[in-house]
Amino acid sequence: MNRFEGTKVLLTGGGSGIGRATALRLAAEGAAVFAVDLSGAGLAETAAASCGPGRIATRVADVADEDAVVDAVRAAADELGGLDVLVNVAGIHRTTPIDRLTVADLHQLFTVNAVGTALYCREALPLLPDRTGVVVNVASSAAAHGNPYMTAYAASKGAVLGFSLSLAAEVAHRGIRVVPVSPGSVATPLAGPHVLPPGLDVSYFGRIRSPFGAAEPEQIAGVIAFAASRDAGYLTGAELRVDGGSHI
Ligand code: NAD
Repeated sequence: MNRFEGTKVLLTGGGSGIGRATALRLAAEGAAVFAVDLSGAGLAETAAASCGPGRIATRVADVADEDAVVDAVRAAADELGGLDVLVNVAGIHRTTPIDRLTVADLHQLFTVNAVGTALYCREALPLLPDRTGVVVNVASSAAAHGNPYMTAYAASKGAVLGFSLSLAAEVAHRGIRVVPVSPGSVATPLAGPHVLPPGLDVSYFGRIRSPFGAAEPEQIAGVIAFAASRDAGYLTGAELRVDGGSHI
């Protein structure tokens, strides 16, 4: 099914995990994807894994660098001949107990997760077409459900969620949809006990586990693809929580 034939997609975080799975899924359904990431090796792996019928172009760029964002959006529009869909997936995770939280941690998490998302939206929105343009921003179920040691990460993802809902209201008059997608626990390099600083109790990971286990990145990519598709034409300003029933 070529749901995205002729659709031009700019996607961040395409070098790993959910972003890679989403780039591959959209290209498999016919999209032309311009994938951005910090990791050139990750992007090369993503591009090599694509079987079409769409295509994946890549660019190394830091979502936290304003000039690099401006350049990347311009390059994407030049390469693809316009833009229809923006998908913000790039993100970082830190787990820190509150007594060890630093301003540097907070700045880094907010700059990459929230400011990066906001900058891509600011730069891409003027290029998105009225009535059919779509923005999908990956937040996290951590924005709405408490998890120990995740205060700063959760706050940065809460910022992504709130930003996305207000943006949906602001651009609705153009018929542009904005959909925040909030995954629960996903099996990617970003998640897992290895992200914990030494000496912390890791048993809390059991509390955020879905009865279905951790998601595969492809299961989140499928929901992002739905949100970006015409099937979701009446969906905007509403969070899609994809956490495998972690909180039922
Ligand atoms: P991942 O680490 O596999 O992928 C994240 C990608 O973002 C990497 O390729 C990384 O290089 C890129 N990236 C990081 N900082 C960047 C920057 N400054 N500029 C450009 N690219 C940058 O992780 P993932 O699990 O696929 O995470 C994707 C998104 O999903 C993140 O926003 C994350 O917060 C969110 N998320 C993940 C989970 C999970 O359990 N894995 C749960 C909820 C939300």
